[in-house]
Amino acid sequence: MHSPDTVLRVALPLPLPRLFDYLPPDAGVAMVGGRVRVPFGSRSLVGVIAEIGPVDPGLGELRQAEVLLDETPLLQGELLDSLRWLARYTHAPLGEVFATALPTLLRHGEPLPDTHAWAWRLTPEASGTRLRGKPARLAELLGDAGLDEDVLDARLDDWRPAARALLKRGLTERVAVPASAHAPMPESGPVPNEEQDAALDSLRARRGFAASLLDGVTGSGKTEVYLRAIADCLASGKQALVLVPEIGLTPQTLQRFRRRLGVPVHALHSGLADGERARVWAAAWRGEARVIVGTRSAVFVPLPDAGLIVIDEEHDGSYKQQDGIRYHARDFALVRGKALDVPVLLGSATPSLETLHNAESGRYAHLRLRRRAGEAQPPTVRVLDVRKRPLDAGLSPELLQAMRKALDDGGQVLVFKNRRGYAPVLLCHDCGWSAQCRRCSTPLRAVPMTVHGGGRRLQCHHCGARQTPPMACPDCASLALQPQGVGTERLEELLAERFGDVPVLRIDSASTRRKDALEKHFAELGTQPGILVGTQMLAKGHDLPNLTLVAVVGIDEGLFSADFRAGEKLAQLLIQVAGRAGRADKRGEVILQTHHPEHPLLLTLIQGGYHAFAETELALREAAGFPPFAHLALLRAEAQHADAPMQFLHAAKATLLPYAATQREESDGLALNGPVAAPMPRRAGMYRAQLLLTASTRRALHQALDAALPAIHALPDARRTRWSLDVDPVDL
Ligand code: ADP
Ligand code: ZN
Ligand code: ZN
Repeated sequence: MHSPDTVLRVALPLPLPRLFDYLPPDAGVAMVGGRVRVPFGSRSLVGVIAEIGPVDPGLGELRQAEVLLDETPLLQGELLDSLRWLARYTHAPLGEVFATALPTLLRHGEPLPDTHAWAWRLTPEASGTRLRGKPARLAELLGDAGLDEDVLDARLDDWRPAARALLKRGLTERVAVPASAHAPMPESGPVPNEEQDAALDSLRARRGFAASLLDGVTGSGKTEVYLRAIADCLASGKQALVLVPEIGLTPQTLQRFRRRLGVPVHALHSGLADGERARVWAAAWRGEARVIVGTRSAVFVPLPDAGLIVIDEEHDGSYKQQDGIRYHARDFALVRGKALDVPVLLGSATPSLETLHNAESGRYAHLRLRRRAGEAQPPTVRVLDVRKRPLDAGLSPELLQAMRKALDDGGQVLVFKNRRGYAPVLLCHDCGWSAQCRRCSTPLRAVPMTVHGGGRRLQCHHCGARQTPPMACPDCASLALQPQGVGTERLEELLAERFGDVPVLRIDSASTRRKDALEKHFAELGTQPGILVGTQMLAKGHDLPNLTLVAVVGIDEGLFSADFRAGEKLAQLLIQVAGRAGRADKRGEVILQTHHPEHPLLLTLIQGGYHAFAETELALREAAGFPPFAHLALLRAEAQHADAPMQFLHAAKATLLPYAATQREESDGLALNGPVAAPMPRRAGMYRAQLLLTASTRRALHQALDAALPAIHALPDARRTRWSLDVDPVDL
């Protein structure tokens, strides 16, 4: 079928910046974007055909591909083009980008899965059986006709265990039914207020690609705007993609979308089994999935009938992939929206400075929701100066009093502390020895091991190393080893002692490792008076209508971080945590306890709010030449040998130097900063260093990288280190 001199140029999932040539297999018709299994060394790999062309006679003997895996290319049209763009932008091998975009099973060569819908029916035996609890409610819902799974999803929380239990007893059966659009009648939702209407009018007035920032405080009704914009999109027969942060994709969020949209809502997140991920991807590919709600990697779903892309909490750090292909899902969603020629709606109460800058310069429409929807009032904010005050577990007497009062008034209290574990340090009271991680260090000090499990375990928060604490001090043999400082675990213990009459719940990544643990905790607490203690996991998620006091303690370290984004992150976190107070009819209060009440960040944030902070910060960034006024790329290297990373980065710098502005006598263009040791120069036993590239235009940055990277890949030092390039890094 192929002419004898046709060659397939295949993108393979290998860290090599090139394609690999193969002769076509004997059977089938090869197409660009289709998967193919090929021999590679002694292995067999699955790749994607990137080009089909004539054999280059200079290439010599080519191996033949084993088998074509797709009759219709999996990657085609806009998605294929956008992924090629992403490979160029991240300077990553195309094969690795394709592999990142495909669900695991498809990446491994499995066929595109079936996407029938499934329905549950009662068997005849069920009629004579008495049931109680959830199985009884499920049976009642199923009735004579049975129901599709997505209808069940919308009508009954957590119905699957009950269905499976009945299946085991022979009382239900699960049957495949054609995928259909029949779904429950959508609920109508509140009437939009004036600001929501104005935002919706602006969205409706635009055709084709247009980016809009929906800038509104927590509870101002952004999700209502998304829901109506998605309904418009569905009404015009198009698909919608909604990206949400890792922590925001709760069963509640999905329920809300399902109840309101009247079509099946497909969820895509890291908690799904591989089979389910592949099925959702396939349903999107076939155009059956009309609404896809997912976390970061959902940005790669095919959208053959795209009509709208929504990015909720667009500032959220979880949108940036931190290893492998270091893409930013928000930025890639904008690229796709442009290629698809559909509107992109970015929502946040605390927009990233990049997005705010785009809105202010007119590139994005700036839609604002200034008031909380419904009755809820904004919380009052009080700064508590704790200098020279006695502290109990890090809490001042005034704060403890305010907590007591909020509880006595029947409210709930959230104590926000961004330090998990029992205590940050284990210290010898007699000689000053402290437990340190043997595999990590910073320039100023060793990295202490955090005490966990009430004192039974030591853990390094940077490399994950664990050990049991010594019985006696290794230096002086004293038994006076004491946990120093307060982490969330210890805070929970101390608060439980002090406020014995109310439940105290801890919410952090250790206490909520299981997927639904967070929801379970919240359900357990209900609306009774109680205390929640936790880390930034508490900043988002479930509505807590009875939360009246938010106490923020231990933010002082964040005020003095070296990372240029630290201020932005801290401001966002404070606003998001504060936004949880007083959502319903009760006005909330936020108490910020600090040793630095005069710090400009806090002053600006409290007096002027997030936007005043953002203005100040943008001016600082502009003066210092940082994003969004400059473009960055970070070359990172690490190795077991202490000198190797620096050697490699010096060699890389030499390769890049001819493109630097100083060499070209240009006033702006590419600047090379470093190499320097990484902020954490030793982690998990590896020595680490970095070289920062800054440029006033993207073009200067990418031209230099395009020109220099082949030579950098070929450097002898490159083989002695593990190195990576991060375009638009978020952590420096
Ligand atoms: P956000 O996404 O900005 O946090 P939501 O859309 O979740 O805000 O709205 C917050 C609460 O206010 C929800 O309970 C929602 O049902 C309610 N709400 C939103 N818009 C309106 C409105 N126009 N009228 C009455 N209640 C509203
Ligand atoms: Zn000692
Ligand atoms: Zn460590």
